[in-house]
Amino acid sequence: MTEGKPARVRFAPSPTGRFHIGSARTALYDYLLARQSEGQFILRIEDTDRNRFDPQAENEYYEALRWLGLDWDEGPDIGGPFSPYRQSERTEIYRQLTEELIDGGHAYYCFCTPERLTQVRQLQQKRKEPTRYDGLCRRLSPEDARERALGGERHVVRFKTPQEGQTTAVDFLRGPIKVDNHTIDDYILVKSSGMPVYHLAAMADDHLMEITHVLRGSEWLPTFPLHVLIYEAFGWEQPIWIHLSVLLNPSGKGKLSKRSTVDPKSGAKAVFVNDLREMGYLPQAVINWISLMGWSYDDHSEFFPIDDLIGKFSIEKLSPSPAAVNFSKLDHFNGLYIRSLSTDELAEELLPFFTKAEIDADLTEIKVLVPLIQERIRTLDEAVDMAGFFFQPDVHPESSELVGKKMSAQDSARAAERAHEVIQALSESEFEQLEGALRDLADELGIKAGQLFGILRVAVTGQKVSPPLIESMVIIGKKIVLARIERAAKILNSLE
Ligand code: GLU
Repeated sequence: MTEGKPARVRFAPSPTGRFHIGSARTALYDYLLARQSEGQFILRIEDTDRNRFDPQAENEYYEALRWLGLDWDEGPDIGGPFSPYRQSERTEIYRQLTEELIDGGHAYYCFCTPERLTQVRQLQQKRKEPTRYDGLCRRLSPEDARERALGGERHVVRFKTPQEGQTTAVDFLRGPIKVDNHTIDDYILVKSSGMPVYHLAAMADDHLMEITHVLRGSEWLPTFPLHVLIYEAFGWEQPIWIHLSVLLNPSGKGKLSKRSTVDPKSGAKAVFVNDLREMGYLPQAVINWISLMGWSYDDHSEFFPIDDLIGKFSIEKLSPSPAAVNFSKLDHFNGLYIRSLSTDELAEELLPFFTKAEIDADLTEIKVLVPLIQERIRTLDEAVDMAGFFFQPDVHPESSELVGKKMSAQDSARAAERAHEVIQALSESEFEQLEGALRDLADELGIKAGQLFGILRVAVTGQKVSPPLIESMVIIGKKIVLARIERAAKILNSLE
């Protein structure tokens, strides 16, 4: 538990793409910090990059955060004391702050054309110099520049990075990072469209929204000193900066893909939260899994439902070291959480997967199946593969699969015929105890019970893998079981 006053933390996605598990981890840590300190978890939409704006994205974030259970206290949809929470609605605030920076000598108008900037860059590349803005407009008189800008001349606004001295940027996990100021570019703060970029908008909002801890991806480390300089230029008190560890591919080689959904080669499954949901992972499992991507409680505990995480999480135990993402761990957690659900809860979770597979099952029917499959599935959609046949009017076994292990088709046919006789002889009430009768039959036929059950499993369920056979047969009912075994015997007899 992190001691101290209530934390105000924000998750600030850009609606430019899909909700990645790396971002979900940031959101989770934000949420935990807010909940354990009785602070606020704020959702802010950073949509100033209009070229990359994706209208679907904002909704995807809302939906996935809600599914994960990471509810926010302030945000574009619910408002809050620092409204608005969508940056495109805050442009007047950024405009005023930009003026303030220019008036204070910390920023300047730049009129250089893209063509000129390309030329500068090419020259620098030829000379093997670092590519950066050469400072031409930095030297304009502020009055002239203002007049040109107000007169409508196309311009951007750049930060006037100090040319002397050093900046020390303190990352909570890495300690002080010192940079010579002359190596820092005069970054663009406001584009020619008038829209601010991240460097200005996010700093402004973090300050104005009284954010205490900035948790963000380590891709921001290179521009971190610039962000510190912007805070200093405004004279603002800095938040605690925390750059989370880089996530690596399962192989440990290279950064975790930002795009691929399924890559069996690298072991990567889905990297987007909503895809994991579709694939049948429970939000509890995803939360537990991502909580450990850069945080640990001790060197052995791993099972952390969200309430435990709220109690146990601490920023002191975050690690800055890159971590390979392990998808088998997610399967493992999913199995654990599936098994921890009650029959009713699991049935509720499974229903949408049956519906999606166009299987007309209702909750009561699924509840009957839950005890048969709860121990056997790792993902919710596996339930459909395993138990979907219960809802089909008929099954279609592969003839070759009907042949018993290490048996001939003829012997298998004989076994099926005998099983048919034995089951037919059972009364309805005896049917529920048919296991003993079938085991006796296996003895009589001189085969293993497993061989007999294998034949019957394929005959009755149409599958080699199914829920427990006897229980499944009881649910299917004697009449249908007999019909399917009879058909299987016929198929087997027609084989060589
Ligand atoms: N909008 C930024 C992004 O999506 C947020 C970074 C931050 O949390 O400061 O990368």
